[in-house]
Amino acid sequence: MSEMRTWAIRSARLFDGTGAPPIDDAVALIEGERVAAAGPASDVVIPNGVEMLDAGDATLLPGLIDAHVHMLHTGSASSGVDSRAMNDRQLLLVGARNSLAALRSGLTTVRDCGDHDYMTLTLRDSIAEGAIPGPRMLCSGPVITSTAGQLWWTGIECDTPDDLRRAVRTLAKNGVDFIKLMGSGGNATPGSNPEVSQYDEEGYRAVADDAHRLGKRVAVHVHGVDAIRMAVDAGMDTLEHCPFRANGGIEYDAELAEDIRQKGIIVSIAMPATWYRLRAEDMRDVRAHPGHLWESRPDSIREMYEAGVKLVVSSDQGSTGTAIDELHLLMAYLVERVGMSPESVIHGATGLAAEALGIEGELGTIEPGKLADLAVVEGDPFADMSVVARVRTVVKGGRIVVRDGAVVV
Ligand SMILES: [Zn+2]
Repeated sequence: MSEMRTWAIRSARLFDGTGAPPIDDAVALIEGERVAAAGPASDVVIPNGVEMLDAGDATLLPGLIDAHVHMLHTGSASSGVDSRAMNDRQLLLVGARNSLAALRSGLTTVRDCGDHDYMTLTLRDSIAEGAIPGPRMLCSGPVITSTAGQLWWTGIECDTPDDLRRAVRTLAKNGVDFIKLMGSGGNATPGSNPEVSQYDEEGYRAVADDAHRLGKRVAVHVHGVDAIRMAVDAGMDTLEHCPFRANGGIEYDAELAEDIRQKGIIVSIAMPATWYRLRAEDMRDVRAHPGHLWESRPDSIREMYEAGVKLVVSSDQGSTGTAIDELHLLMAYLVERVGMSPESVIHGATGLAAEALGIEGELGTIEPGKLADLAVVEGDPFADMSVVARVRTVVKGGRIVVRDGAVVV
């Protein structure tokens, strides 16, 4: 590998991922695995003899980050059932296939929020060693849940604070990057209750305190309002889903949202856009998800957005009906249906997502000194977010890993 190769890429637009407006006619200079300079083509000094890739009418984005995926799942309309029927070898092959598809869709980092027997760690390490192409992975390992709770068949069942501390320590010992706690029940587990917390305050504090003691963040799956409240009070790092479910519907709690904002806790939307958009009729057949929730969920996202809550754009890929390469559907949905600005949406899948994962020192933005992870999309996502589906070139650690829409193997 030519580790210290210096080259440059020029495009009609560049969004650096910090949340600042896009720059027209921009260039990024790459030295080895890092960004050396980026900005308007008129400002960036390109040394003589440096190879320049002209991307034309394209937009240069930081490599996309999906903060909530399930790499071992297919994301088909019957994903949950399919995954439970597969053996370990089949699941790992799904993971390998998803690694390629993720990269090709512009994802250079994913956070896997639900493992089976630590297999995602094998995938993570194989990608890091270069054995197969794929995004950088942060892995929770198996989720922590209550007995018979959300995803119990693939998680670590814990009921008491002692159980919870033991699980956190076991996960850390086995090399996970963060902890995933199932704070409430969920749609994927018949018999669990999405509206009600699986633990009391002491349980949340046991997980948060012990995880933080060991240098691990906690991503907590929360649907019900009471679970969200306890997760916020315990100082959890990211709230996954966070739809404010109560009393058979959605009851947005403005005071709770303000508390989330003040504490700087990041909400990871983790919403498969296909539920709401493309295949809603198919979805009704495979899971009992009340239709009125589909109607009111975008309103609760809009209210959090308008209240200034930090929103990370994550797909929950692997959950029923969203494939790993469909983050662009959610991005377009958030602009068109929820009314978020294109800048906020792309920031939520780049710079802010990196902050949620604690990797913002190295990744998430196109700035001098950062690792050169880039996604080049055809056209202008600030005029039409759906162009994020048209990824032509992907750069990971300064190397082109997707060329003309195909993964370089
Ligand atoms: Zn999930």
